[in-house]
This record gives sequence, C-alpha cells and structure tokens, in this order.
Amino acid sequence: SLDLTSCNKFVHQFEKVIEKPLKTKSSVYYTGVDLGTACIVLAVLDENYQPVAGAYKYANVVKDGMVVDYIGAIHIVRELKEKLEAELETELLFAASAIPPGTNELDSGAIRNVIQSAGFELTNLLDEPTAANQVMDIQNGAIVDIGGGTTGISILKDGEVIKVADEATGGTHLSLVVAGAYKLPFEEAELYKRNKKNHGELIHVLQPVVEKIGSIILRQIEGYQVDAIYLVGGSACLNGMEQIIEKVTKIPTFKPEQPLFVTPLGIGKSC
Ligand code: ATP
Repeated sequence: SLDLTSCNKFVHQFEKVIEKPLKTKSSVYYTGVDLGTACIVLAVLDENYQPVAGAYKYANVVKDGMVVDYIGAIHIVRELKEKLEAELETELLFAASAIPPGTNELDSGAIRNVIQSAGFELTNLLDEPTAANQVMDIQNGAIVDIGGGTTGISILKDGEVIKVADEATGGTHLSLVVAGAYKLPFEEAELYKRNKKNHGELIHVLQPVVEKIGSIILRQIEGYQVDAIYLVGGSACLNGMEQIIEKVTKIPTFKPEQPLFVTPLGIGKSC
C-alpha cells in the first residue's frame, strides 16, 4: 500500500494556512481553482509549491463539471481571489483548474472562461484524478473521487491514468437519504451530514448508499488489476466510509486525512 504521510502533511499545512495565511514573500504564486458541485476551493502555493493560503465557499454554481451559474461562479472566484490577495498583500496572477474526466469541450471552455473572467491567467486545465495524484503520488491502484453529484473512478498503472469513469452517485444522494431518514429539508440534512459529530450514527443510515458506491467501483474496475483503492473528494470525509467500501470490494481502501482538499492542492501544483 501507499504511504499517505506526506500527502497528509501537505493537506494539513493547507488547512493551517486557510486559518492563518503565510505571509513570507514569494517571487510567484500559483493558485489552484477547484470548481466543484458543492464547493469552490482556491489553494495558493508559493514558488516552492508549498501552501501559503486558501479559501473556500459552498456554492451551487457548477453541476458535475458543467457551469450552471456562470456569473455566480465568476463572482465567487473573484471574491475568494480578492480575499486571498488582501491576506497575502500580493496580486494572484496564475491559476490552474480541473475538469471531471469526460467533460466535453463546451463545458471545459466555460470553466476556462470563469477562471479568466475572475482575473487569472489560466496556465493549465487538467482532469481531476490527474490533479489529485499530484498530491497522492500513486503508481498503481484506483483513485475514487466521491464528490457532490458524482463518483469518479480512475485506474492508475505505473503512475499513468489508464481508465476513467464517472457515475451519478455522490454526496447529494447521501444528503437526500439523511433528509428522508431524519425528515429534514435538504439544506439542513446537508449540514447535518457534514458535521463530523454525527458521522458515527450516520454511517449506519448511509450504509446502503455507500455499499452502492462500493458496487459501482467494483463494476468499473472489473478486468483491471487494482490492489488498492484511494478515496478523495468531499464525500469521502464521512467517517467509516472506507471500511464499508473495503468490505464490498475486498480491496484495501485508504483515504487521506482531509480528502476534500487533495484535488485543489494538486491543481495548484500543476499550475
Ligand atoms: P463533483 O465531484 O460531483 O463535481 P464536487 O467537486 O463539488 O462535486 P467535493 O467538493 O469534492 O465535490 O465534495 C462535495 C461533497 O462533499 C458534498 O456532497 C458535501 O456534502 C460533501 N462533504 C463536504 N464536507 C463533508 C463532511 N465533512 N462530511 C461529509 N460530507 C462532506
């Protein structure tokens, strides 16, 4: 299996600078912009590709890699950019972004335009699993990105992505099940689900959906040699998820300590 220690240290450093930016001067800054279905994250790295600042905002402006609220997306990216620029007392010029695998030309064009309209020069646009692997550094195995709307499965062989697939089950479905079980409006269920204090009881309520995600993974990796599964994406935050997926797939399953920030940091590294 892979040692996620350095990945965890890197993400932990990022969490610290979200709270308290590092103001040491850098000749250049690289910003990773992750436009997610549930959350927009900006990760700022310095000249040595170390995290120095970060900001995020929950928003409904993108759906499965498609920008559904173009103006809203530009506003949020610009707002987060300006906040970070004020904190770092510098101008952020360069950004990279990522698209879910299989996103078409039109949608990747929209993402490109959002980044540029927010005032960045876009230096790279890569696919999400490749971005995540900039931080995880996996040679062989499957990266499973459990986001809001979808679960993306990428199979790696000798460090290269050899297969990608995207399926429409993700955190939104988990929230819908929470809403049903607790008779809560969706937004409240979403917040209830994100609270780690509730994860111990929630994992039982959510077990069938997580098992379904496990069977989706099994189906997608059929015919490939996969000896380890690595979970990333916001929904992988749910405590206990990895054990259920490991049970369904019978493949050792790992996750970084803060899976939500792996992809944006990887995007920043590819800037
Ligand atoms: P997609 O990959 O579908 O485009 P996305 O990139 O927005 O979506 P992420 O930001 O990786 O996806 O994850 C968003 C999901 O993660 C949401 O469903 C959200 O509820 C869930 N999530 C975020 N934080 C937590 C948490 N602490 N516990 C459980 N779920 C969480």
